Amino acid sequence: MEKKNLDWANIGFGYIETDKRYVSNYKDGAWDEGVLTEDSMVTISECAGVLQYAQTIFEGMKAYTTEDGRIVTFRPDLNAARMEDSAKRMEMPVFPQERFVDAVVQTVAANKAYVPPFGSGATLYLRPYMFGSNPVIGVKPASEYQFRVFATPVGPYFKGGVKPLTICVSDFDRAAPNGTGHIKAGLNYAMSLHAIVSAHNNGFDENMYLDAATKTKVEETGGANFLFVTKDNKVVTPKSGSILPSITRRSLMYVAKEYLGLEVEEREVYLEEVSDFAECGLCGTAAVISPVGKIVDHGKEIYLPSGMSDMGPVTKKLFDTLTGIQMGKIEAPKGWLVEIQ
Ligand SMILES: *Cc1c(COP(=O)(O)O)cnc(C)c1O
Repeated sequence: MEKKNLDWANIGFGYIETDKRYVSNYKDGAWDEGVLTEDSMVTISECAGVLQYAQTIFEGMKAYTTEDGRIVTFRPDLNAARMEDSAKRMEMPVFPQERFVDAVVQTVAANKAYVPPFGSGATLYLRPYMFGSNPVIGVKPASEYQFRVFATPVGPYFKGGVKPLTICVSDFDRAAPNGTGHIKAGLNYAMSLHAIVSAHNNGFDENMYLDAATKTKVEETGGANFLFVTKDNKVVTPKSGSILPSITRRSLMYVAKEYLGLEVEEREVYLEEVSDFAECGLCGTAAVISPVGKIVDHGKEIYLPSGMSDMGPVTKKLFDTLTGIQMGKIEAPKGWLVEIQ
């Protein structure tokens, strides 16, 4: 199979149309068998539930070329399970988990020419999603849905080297207690756009959202979970019912404990104690971990001891170990890598 002639190191993070995508439709209470199609356009009613009342959910994951030339995806079963949780909370039908994994595998297999080569730093980003497709004008769940998976190659995240982020404590709330913060729904992103544009206008890379009820506890950013490292090398991540359960974060906590022998803790983290940590990072599929160098709380600047020029030592070890597992350089726990034939 011949690879597409793309400048892998410089493609950035944007949509590049690939050859095939997977589509399955839900009607009369059942999913159809699903197909791969070359048609990248979606045609739906002007009154579709997704367009009126934002009934849509999604996932994000990647396919990689390993050092020994295999094409793999990372823990797609967890994306399938998370999408089931999202669907249930949004009154949408569940796309069966085995079919989800199969759809992802089919989409990657059909776009192998777009899976960036090992060592390029680029990856094939995969976007499974589902939306209400039939007309809905009175507020209620749609009765017809479309599930799709498309693939788009994305460039290396840390192009030109790692640069620790400066983030600000936001006055906006991302998620309410008992709301939808724990599911991957487009609505959580629509309402965060004003907050992120405001943060960027004020010179910050990201927002740190606090718990909406008390404004004292760290939750997450708009699209990544926090990991902190204490001065005695314990890895700590905030616990809350309104945080999106990041697969990267859960994998990093496992790696910290089982591969690096570090103590790990998932617990409430107060904004007050953030200045005591040695390192801070943001975890998600896109970057794995982006180090945070500085947190600004209404003019009060908190500098992490790891500094503004590189990852802290524990963050770096976590990053190297997890990316080593993903790239097939370090043995993966059973079931973490799913190979595409
Ligand atoms: C997708 C997402 C993450 C990261 O999850 P991963 O599974 O690691 O990619 C974190 N926070 C939010 C709000 C997200 O939507």
